[in-house]
Amino acid sequence: MAKTYEFVDHTYDVVVIGAGGAGLRATLGMAEQGLRTACITKVFPTRSHTVAAQGGIAASLTNMTPDCWEWHMYDTVKGSDWLGDTDAMEYLAREAPKAVYELEHYGVPFSRTEEGKIYQRPFGGHMQNYGEGPPVQRTCAAADRTGHAILHTLYGQSLRHNAEFYIEYFALDLIMSDDGVCQGVIAWNLDDGTMHRFAAKMVVLATGGYGRAYFSATSAHTCTGDGGGMVARAGLPLQDMEFVQFHPTGIYGSGCLITEGARGEGGYLVNSEGERFMERYAPSAKDLASRDVVSRCMTMEIRENRGVGKKGDHIFLHLDHLDPALLAERLPGISESARIFAGVDVTKDPIPVLPTVHYNMGGVPTNYWGEVLNADGKNPDRIQEGLMAVGEAGCASVHGANRLGSNSLIDLVVFGRAAAIKAGEVVDPKEATPAPSEASCEKIMDRFDTLRNASGSIPTAKLRDKMQHAMQEDAAVFRTQESLEAGCQRLSAIWGEMKDLKVSDRSLIWNSDLVETLELENLMANAITTVYGAEARKESRGAHAREDYKDGPFSGRDDENWRKHTLAWVNEAGDVKLDYRPVVTDPLTTFEEGGIDPKKIAPKARVY
Ligand SMILES: Cc1cc2nc3c(=O)[nH]c(=O)nc-3n(C[C@H](O)[C@H](O)[C@H](O)COP(=O)(O)OP(=O)(O)OC[C@H]3O[C@@H](n4cnc5c(N)ncnc54)[C@H](O)[C@@H]3O)c2cc1C
Repeated sequence: MAKTYEFVDHTYDVVVIGAGGAGLRATLGMAEQGLRTACITKVFPTRSHTVAAQGGIAASLTNMTPDCWEWHMYDTVKGSDWLGDTDAMEYLAREAPKAVYELEHYGVPFSRTEEGKIYQRPFGGHMQNYGEGPPVQRTCAAADRTGHAILHTLYGQSLRHNAEFYIEYFALDLIMSDDGVCQGVIAWNLDDGTMHRFAAKMVVLATGGYGRAYFSATSAHTCTGDGGGMVARAGLPLQDMEFVQFHPTGIYGSGCLITEGARGEGGYLVNSEGERFMERYAPSAKDLASRDVVSRCMTMEIRENRGVGKKGDHIFLHLDHLDPALLAERLPGISESARIFAGVDVTKDPIPVLPTVHYNMGGVPTNYWGEVLNADGKNPDRIQEGLMAVGEAGCASVHGANRLGSNSLIDLVVFGRAAAIKAGEVVDPKEATPAPSEASCEKIMDRFDTLRNASGSIPTAKLRDKMQHAMQEDAAVFRTQESLEAGCQRLSAIWGEMKDLKVSDRSLIWNSDLVETLELENLMANAITTVYGAEARKESRGAHAREDYKDGPFSGRDDENWRKHTLAWVNEAGDVKLDYRPVVTDPLTTFEEGGIDPKKIAPKARVY
């Protein structure tokens, strides 16, 4: 029996877990409607990974070039390689301008054009005229610190509406009733060691991505997929986990990001022969082709011995032909990153770069209102009561098999807001909040206590390193049946080794050893479902590029058999079960009602 832990009890209408862009937008929207709202976060809100977003946020404002929501929707559909849900993608593209103006009115200090309008830059995969081109200027930016500006503004607005924050509280697990309703969450106050039980009518997961399942990632060390871990332990499925985005330009060595905005402002990639090779692969979009495409082309150049550097294992990004005044005004942050992490003065020398894990398209399945789906093949749209998911933790799915740059920040605010609107409809503040299940709470604390007292032989950092290398090697930019089978075996073996973990610190106050162990368990749930989902998916689509499936009119994409979402469950023993649900192909509005012409978004080959 576990040591008995005492709870400090709290009751709310809504508890949001996470204070990144998605969590804060949801929190703000809930509080604004008078719902009693708590926001729990393991790091100070403005330190969430959203703060690092550089390039910008996509919306068809038409401030710099012609644009419309239909073009934005088309680009998103194509970017997703026809795996995104059409209703959700329409919702995103239509609501985007409203959401950006709302941010402007909340106080986000966007960069400006001469006439004082919001500045917009070109970004990969965003084009005019249904992909025909030329590139569209759709990505609204606050220099190259857009996430920073958004996060600080949203935090201020949330405080203004009296949302209550529980800062540096680590959410352990969801409290689930006997009949499967989510009733709240237990969180550990890292600062004083107390345990807090939050009863709520609605829990919103906004815990971000799981980039740290890989060895080299642009994401913060806190991006450990805790929401995915909690959902998996609650017996619910994760969706499309095999789709992991590699950003073309992580700084060689550190993985630190150089925004795609750098190419948007005119930067380009070259190989060891000094060739701008993207012109060969993507004659029309060139360096601004979609991220998965550019990452693969870079990998091919390196493989064919045209990489740069002593080992010939990376690529150069040139900005040195651009006006230094423009670099100082539009890209000050990455100029600084290049200096610190690569020792490069961008006005004089190229930056050494390499494709680096950047974003997780997969996550907790939801509809476009953010309501979590307890789906399986037979019940593809079944709603899980009491639970929502937004932001990178969720999978609505607007990014399908590949996310376009600047489409995540807009996803955070559009769906954070949608979740608040829905909660306003389904949560009744007058109703009493049910008491949380004692059995569920006991199970959560048993797990916690077991990990706290883990006295095996493998330190957490060592096992994490093993997982990160397995993922990096076996579930990379290019995949094969062989690499993925090896990945499944390695991840299953590592899962088994978790029983032998060793935690050295038993205290409850700022116990980073235990925090990292809890995070490793969460990462493992995400990582194992990623490789098993990838092994099973016998096609190439978006970020899932299999060398053994690359022929045919769609270069290895098989819409007949694989235009469907993967659902993956993992149990305590580490057994992974897979099932599938159909992609939503109907838009929200028909052509006759003013929707997009369905012929425009019909599947076709994805070329840039
Ligand atoms: C370097 C970088 C640059 C990027 N640039 C862009 C860009 O220019 N444009 C764009 O559209 N996208 C960009 N992206 C992607 C985008 O920034 C992210 O997808 C997005 O910010 C994720 O936001 P989020 O709110 O879902 O989660 P995050 O911002 O990651 O926040 C997660 C929150 O959850 C909390 N949390 C997690 N686990 C727990 C737990 N167990 N208990 C309590 N709290 C918990 C954390 O404390 C944090 O507050 C970039 C990503 C990176 C890494």
